[in-house]
Amino acid sequence: MSSSLFSLRAAALALGVLGAAITPSVASAAAPMVKTQAPGFYRVMLGAFEVTALSDGTVDLPVDTLLHGPAGTVAARLAAAHLKSPVESSVIGFLVNTGDKLVLIDTGAGALFGPTLGKLGASLRAAGYQPEQVDEVLLTHAHPDHVGGLMGPAGVAFANATVRLDEADAQYWLSAAKLDAAPAQAKGFFQGAMASLNPYAEAGRLKPFAAGSELLPGIRAIAARGHSAGHTVYAVESQGQRMLLIGDLIHVGAVQLEDPRVTIAFDSDEPAAAATRRTVFARAAKENLLIGAAHLPFPGLGHLRQAGSSYRWLPVDYTTQLK
Ligand SMILES: [Zn+2]
Repeated sequence: MSSSLFSLRAAALALGVLGAAITPSVASAAAPMVKTQAPGFYRVMLGAFEVTALSDGTVDLPVDTLLHGPAGTVAARLAAAHLKSPVESSVIGFLVNTGDKLVLIDTGAGALFGPTLGKLGASLRAAGYQPEQVDEVLLTHAHPDHVGGLMGPAGVAFANATVRLDEADAQYWLSAAKLDAAPAQAKGFFQGAMASLNPYAEAGRLKPFAAGSELLPGIRAIAARGHSAGHTVYAVESQGQRMLLIGDLIHVGAVQLEDPRVTIAFDSDEPAAAATRRTVFARAAKENLLIGAAHLPFPGLGHLRQAGSSYRWLPVDYTTQLK
């Protein structure tokens, strides 16, 4: 009910003159608010490959404490972008249908990161696929918001998939010795990786790879170290069109595009992570590669343009014409 109608009604009641003429029709006209978003998928073509960004949801990140950069940089960049901490950050996986194989790059958080995430499976179904159809899961790294979706409420989420990740990340995150040696606040990352990956390993369907491998026709793994020991980006190419799925090379576009030196506490080696970001971004901008980023605003698809020591993000234009 609107406040003006409420006032009118109150006044009428006070005067004892409330009549049929001013009661129900206006008050019943307002539709209830729905407060949901569109289904969490967005699709583009890359040559003959179909690429679908799948939303796992969003999570509020306290970036004022997580981001590390020159004094004042983070606050200034956030303010300039009309943002403030915590920043609502997307978690995105990318589904590539090559025509021969259905390949999922990163799986979202599953149950490991709270109730606002874990929606990648629903997005995949909304996008017209079933989890059983996924042939290969490629992981950029083994942090919980990338591996958690490997497990569903009833066990393994991708019943027919082989899971691939860099052998350095597999050795690190699946090591019982490293779990034991880790500080208390880091143990959850190891436990999340183990709970997500070990069921596939026990079924003989976890196949770590060496950096530089061509994993499938048109999909190559490239070492991009720093965020984790085995952090990997995936180069995807079809009919001369090229894309780079960059995982966690960037978390907060408003800050780290302007100043790529800014790192995040989740980086296992922050200087190395910043150096890798500089190298990969410079190449992606120069070669005009389509980027798929796991944590930029959904759908996380766009191009980078270099501007001095900064970058501009050019999101893909909306399209309904998938040729
Ligand atoms: Zn991540």
